Amino acid sequence: MASLSTSLPGRNEPCWCGSSLKYKHCHSDIDTARGASRIVAAKRVYLRGWEQNSRNLEQQGVYEWMAERLEPYKPKRVLDVGTGDGQGVAALWRRFQCKLLISLDENRECLIASEQRLKKNGVPSSVIQRLDVEMESDESYFLSIIAGRLPQGDGVFLIESDILADPELENFLSSIPPFDAITIWLIGTHLMRNNCLNLTSLKIKDTVEYRLRVQNKVYEMADRILRPGGVLQVVDRGEEPNDEILRKDTIDAHKSQAAPTSLQFKSLEYMRYSEIEKGKRVNMVLSPGESGRIPKAPQFAILSVISTKQI
Ligand SMILES: [Zn+2]
Repeated sequence: MASLSTSLPGRNEPCWCGSSLKYKHCHSDIDTARGASRIVAAKRVYLRGWEQNSRNLEQQGVYEWMAERLEPYKPKRVLDVGTGDGQGVAALWRRFQCKLLISLDENRECLIASEQRLKKNGVPSSVIQRLDVEMESDESYFLSIIAGRLPQGDGVFLIESDILADPELENFLSSIPPFDAITIWLIGTHLMRNNCLNLTSLKIKDTVEYRLRVQNKVYEMADRILRPGGVLQVVDRGEEPNDEILRKDTIDAHKSQAAPTSLQFKSLEYMRYSEIEKGKRVNMVLSPGESGRIPKAPQFAILSVISTKQI
């Protein structure tokens, strides 16, 4: 955050943080808030931006396409990591009418918006709020878990959880019957996420690494909570893997993520799509592949990687 003594940009000028977004679409609301409202502001800025991205993806049929990749497995018990604005949950529900669909997000503003979206789509869901924000300063905060708030029975549950720091939820997910599928689609996060002191020991340096850590955590959890033969689907935005080198690079990246687990790479599929102009949207992270190669003016694609747990 820029301190108040330095001059802040005008609302239509580029943000001081280097995102190349206009200040009003980036840090403006966060800089003017104080205390825990700063975290709420950051979560709302993310939600507003992500709604632009997700509308664009929905219009191009990306959510339907992502859910369709799971069609051969017809999952009835699904864990979805990263609720966003609920488009993913809606797509999974439309296709599979899951018996149990648990979606996790650390962003309460996203969960509340998702519940509304699902309601409009005729999908009854409940939000479980279980994180308290405790400010250490205007720059840093702790999340504390409100113990005992966990879902009971079947249904669609939108659960507030920081997957990198939530042993209670992990224990709960291991204690119920195993899942048929886990989805983690297009992970992103808000501008105060790296100020969360629960994550300090992880020393996460940027959003690319953040996404990788969350995915690695999900690979590790998948090993424990999927049924034998169950599937993990990781979806990223990346360069179109339209030749053997790019294809191998993407697959190798996922194989090394799966290496510490018993999961086995099964398939890579991709769908071309068009990105919207920079505006309010969230700057999406581009998957670098195993070689760490920086793509040059790529054709963007949505990449779906499926791994299965050994029988
Ligand atoms: Zn900014």
